[in-house]
Amino acid sequence: MSPSEISTWPIPSTTSTVASPIAPRCPTVMAPSTQQRRFSQASANTKQRAQMLIAKALETRVNGINPDECDAGSEDAFFVADLGDVYRQHMRWKVNLPRIEPFYAVKCNGDPKVLELLASLGTGFDCASKAEIEQVLGMGIDPQRIIYANPCKTPSYVRWVAESGVRMLTFDNAEELYKIKRFYPTAQCVLRISTDDSKALCRLSLKYGCPLDDTAKLLALAKELELDVIGVSFHVGSGSEDPSAFITAVEDARTVFDQAAEIGFEFNLLDVGGGYGTHNFEEIAGGLGPAVDKNFPPSVRVIAEPGRYYVATAFTLATHIIARRTVQDEMKGDLPSYMLYQNDGVYGNFSNIIFDHQNPVAKVLKDQNGFYYNSQPENTRLTEYSIWGPTCDGIDCITKSCYLPAVLDDGDWLYYTDMGAYSKCSATKFNGFSNDHDTVYVVSEPGAKALLDM
Ligand SMILES: *Cc1c(COP(=O)(O)O)cnc(C)c1O
Repeated sequence: MSPSEISTWPIPSTTSTVASPIAPRCPTVMAPSTQQRRFSQASANTKQRAQMLIAKALETRVNGINPDECDAGSEDAFFVADLGDVYRQHMRWKVNLPRIEPFYAVKCNGDPKVLELLASLGTGFDCASKAEIEQVLGMGIDPQRIIYANPCKTPSYVRWVAESGVRMLTFDNAEELYKIKRFYPTAQCVLRISTDDSKALCRLSLKYGCPLDDTAKLLALAKELELDVIGVSFHVGSGSEDPSAFITAVEDARTVFDQAAEIGFEFNLLDVGGGYGTHNFEEIAGGLGPAVDKNFPPSVRVIAEPGRYYVATAFTLATHIIARRTVQDEMKGDLPSYMLYQNDGVYGNFSNIIFDHQNPVAKVLKDQNGFYYNSQPENTRLTEYSIWGPTCDGIDCITKSCYLPAVLDDGDWLYYTDMGAYSKCSATKFNGFSNDHDTVYVVSEPGAKALLDM
């Protein structure tokens, strides 16, 4: 534990907790501290600057492409990533959860600049495969800053990890303990417990996590195998909409710490996993922070594995309209609606529709009259569209119906905000389309600029 984290115990006097008299299992609401207020003020100021930089990057790139003359494919969809946004999310984390060390979940978005920035901000990394671990180690990161957080690991990877210097790994079943005993007996093992993830976007506890009924037995086996179990991890599900799930999981982890002490382990690590949204982060932190402090003394190191939280809002995607079909529907009057076909879809960066249950919202970026990032055409008449990806599969649909204030045609551009999480990482090359679109970087925070030397 670093000195700055020790200094946060006990709870700073600038924060007050108000317990709800109605539902004691619900998160306690914390009044924002002076530090938190100052932080949100500062981030409101830089937001405007960020929007300007993103607009400029989109406009420069789009205006540099003449679809009538460009090389085949150079009008491809592209991202604009604001690394300043990632930086602000890190500061927001530090303000709200100062005791908890984030280990960024690489699977969410392995963008090399994002990883570089987070590395220089001092986060750790949650990796689930050999390639993810290699990517992080390849940046010169100390293997101690990595947790191999996949409870069911490929045996040959475990053998490889034993040589890599990465020590922390998770497990949730007896067979995995025998595997660890065989291939990496000196690993620092972390027991992943199951949680109530019924209100999460992507449920994980159906697949992973030891039920509380079985933890004592599993720990007894680990003791018998003379393995080094150092603590407990959980994940309440990705995109959690239930802040109280974090509190319940922390209390469950406490129960398992006590079981472990009885069996003769000295646990010193709590891993509170991922699941944090950008819209509900303060609400989650307001319950989680105090629950951790209440249940675990400062001698316990507390880490987390946020993924979506760090990258979701940092990435904007621009897509090019490649085709249009007019739909005349007499039932709907004489105004036509259109089917728009764009050059990225669910087999590409919109894989988040399938795998992450997202509904990306199209906005007009450019039509024949101008450029509209953050403004939209001043057209009171809305036109109905369905929007489709480029592959020949009927499932490749972005939206069955949406209304935009312009009559768009091929050659025009759309954009989508909040495309940083679980998008590019799960894109495919199906039908010969790219899974590797360009990213244009902007940095709206001087602090991040200095760290990245950009
Ligand atoms: C996917 C995953 C994460 C990241 O989850 P988010 O919801 O993106 O924060 C963290 N830890 C583990 C073990 C995961 O599988």
